[in-house]
Amino acid sequence: MYFIFEIAFSSNKNYIANLIRAYAKQEEMEVDVLQTVDKILMTFKEEDENLEKFLLGMENVIPASLFLDKGKHYFADKKPALMPVEKLDLPLNIAPCPSCQKEMFDVSSRRYFYPFTSCTNCGSQHPFLTKYPYIRANTTMKFLVPCKACEEERNSHTLRKDYPLISCIDCGIGLRMLDKDTEHMALNKGDYRQLFKSSAGAIASGKTVLMKTMHGYRKLFNPKTTHEGIKNNGLSTLLITNAANLNEHLMIVEQEFNALLSIERPLLRVATKSEEMKHIYGSSVLAKYPDDGMSMLLAGEGVKHGLDYMAYIECDSTEEADYLVDFDMPINSQKDIKLFINQDTKLFVSGERIVFPAKVQNNKKRISIAHDLACVPIENKSIIDSLEVFDAVETTELYVLDAEEGFENIHSNQHRFEQYQASMMSVLSEHYKVGQKAIGVHFDGTLNFLYYNGKKVINAVPTIAFESDNLWEKISTLREGSDRLVGNYKKAYPEVWERLDNLAGDMDIFEVTAITLGLADESFEGISAEALSFLGKGGLQIDTRVKDNRFDNYAFLTSIMSYQLGDVENNFMCYSIYESFGDYIGELVPQLCDKVGSNIVVLTGETFGNQSLYARIQRTLGQKKPLMSKNFPIGKENAVHGALYL
Ligand SMILES: [Zn+2]
Ligand SMILES: [Zn+2]
Repeated sequence: MYFIFEIAFSSNKNYIANLIRAYAKQEEMEVDVLQTVDKILMTFKEEDENLEKFLLGMENVIPASLFLDKGKHYFADKKPALMPVEKLDLPLNIAPCPSCQKEMFDVSSRRYFYPFTSCTNCGSQHPFLTKYPYIRANTTMKFLVPCKACEEERNSHTLRKDYPLISCIDCGIGLRMLDKDTEHMALNKGDYRQLFKSSAGAIASGKTVLMKTMHGYRKLFNPKTTHEGIKNNGLSTLLITNAANLNEHLMIVEQEFNALLSIERPLLRVATKSEEMKHIYGSSVLAKYPDDGMSMLLAGEGVKHGLDYMAYIECDSTEEADYLVDFDMPINSQKDIKLFINQDTKLFVSGERIVFPAKVQNNKKRISIAHDLACVPIENKSIIDSLEVFDAVETTELYVLDAEEGFENIHSNQHRFEQYQASMMSVLSEHYKVGQKAIGVHFDGTLNFLYYNGKKVINAVPTIAFESDNLWEKISTLREGSDRLVGNYKKAYPEVWERLDNLAGDMDIFEVTAITLGLADESFEGISAEALSFLGKGGLQIDTRVKDNRFDNYAFLTSIMSYQLGDVENNFMCYSIYESFGDYIGELVPQLCDKVGSNIVVLTGETFGNQSLYARIQRTLGQKKPLMSKNFPIGKENAVHGALYL
C-alpha cells in the first residue's frame, strides 16, 4: 500500500515540486514526487514512521504559490502512472524561498542581509541572464569567482547543486549607499545590515531612497508624507512591509491575501480600508508584498521603524532622491506582472515576470516577435523570453506583430499579424480548440468582435475608429441636438471643455473618459479604481452603439457627458461604464454564436481584468463558459505565443 498526497498545481513551472524533492533529500525521506499538467503527487510507503513529521515540516520550507490549490490524500495499491511535465531549467524571477530567507536573517550565515541570496528554485535569476543557455558564463555574474564555501555548496548542497548564480557576501555583489556628500561601501555582514537599517530609517523620517532592485530602480518613500518631486502619492505602488497588520489597512479576501504573499509576489489592485489608506489612495490601491532581496530586507527593517507599509514609483537611475542604494552589476529587469482575482479565478492581466521565460510547443519551428518578446526554437522546444537574450538564429519563417517597430523586411519569409488574431489563437491553443469555429471578443481600450472560421481570425465587428483631436466637432455632429449638449457642457465644465478641445489625436477612449470625469489617474486604471468604490446597484445605461451594432466612441462620450450634466456621481458612472459594456457584449456574442453555429467563446484583452466588467460578463455570458488565457497574460503578452498558431 502507498500513501498518496496530491495538491492541485496549475502551472508547468517546476520550482515547487523541486523544492519538495530537495526537502525530501535533506530529510532522507523516501518519496516519489511527480508533477503532471494539473497537480503535484507525493507517493510515500504507507508504513513510513516519519511521514507525519515530514508533512508537518513541509509547511516551513515550501512557499505559498499562486499556482497551488487544494490538497487531498488517499491510499492506493499501486504507484500512480501519470505523464510527468517536462523539466524546464529556465531562470526564475520570484521571491526567495523560505530556506533562503532564513539564511538572510541568520547572523551566523554567509548570507546575512545579502540581498542576492537565491537557490536553484527561487529568487531573482532572470535579471542576470544575458543569453541562453542559462549557465554562469552567460550571466552578468561571470566575472565573480565563487569562494571556497560557495564552491563546496555548488558541488553538494541539496538546494544549490550546480546552481549557476551561487554567491555570498564574501564572493558576491557589493552594495553601496550614497547621499549628496558621502558614499558608504558595504564590505561585511554588519555593513549590509546597517545599509538597510539606515535606508528604512531615512524613509521613516520622511526622506526618499532611490534603490536599485532586481526589478529596476525604485524610488521609495513614506506615502503619508509629501515629498518634493512626487506629484501624487496616490499614484504610487504600495509596498506592504508588515503582513500582520495588512487587514487593518486593506479590505481583502483570503484569495487576495494568499496571492499577495505567494512566492510569485504579483501586483494586485485591492480595496483600501483604513482612513489613512483611503486618504492617500482613495478607494483602491495597487499593492504588493516585497518581491526581491533588496525590497525584502528593507521591508524587514521598515517594520522595526514602525512602518506597516511604504510606497514606490518605478523610475531610472537618474531620479532625484535623498539617498541612493546601488550595486554595480548590470541587470535586465522584466515588466512586473499584474494579477486579477475574482473568487477562484486568477488571471495574469499584463507583464512578463513570473510568466516568462516559458517553454512552449512549436512544431513549425517558427520565430514570433511581439512586445519585445520572442519565441525562439532551441533544440526540440521553443522558449519565449525577452528579445535581447537570444542570439541570432536561422529560421524558415518569421511572424512579427504589426505594431512592432524595427523589423521591416529582415527575412524573406516574413509575416505581419494583428494583436487580436494572435491573442485569440493563444487562448484557443491553450484550450485545445485550434481548428474549431469560435467567436472572440478582444477588448483592449477598443472593443472588437472576432470570428475564427477554423483557419483564420477575422475582425467581424470592429470598433468605429476613434481620434481624439477635434473632439467637439465630432460630438456636435453626432445626431440632432448634440450641438446643444456641447454648449451646455462648455458652460458647466469650462476647464474640462478646454482640455478636451486640445487633445492629441492618439489617446484612447478610456484616457479621454478619465479626463472628462476629472479623475487623478487619467487612464483605464483610474476608471477601474473609481468603479471599485461603487457599492450600490447599477441601472444607468450608457450608450455603447449607434450604427450596425458597432461600438461608437463618440456616442459613448456624449452619453457620459449628459449624465455628468445630470449630476451623476463619478463612481456610479464608472461602474455603469463597465456594466454597459458587459451588457453589450452579453447581447452581441450569443447572436454571433448563432449566426456561425459555434458555442466556443474566447475573451482576450486587458480590459477584461476589471471587477465590474468581469462580474457582468459572468452574468450575461456565464452559460457559454468563455475561454481565457491560462498560462499567459490575457492582454498584449499572449500574442507572441498565439502567433505560433496563425
Ligand atoms: Zn531558495
Ligand atoms: Zn561565496
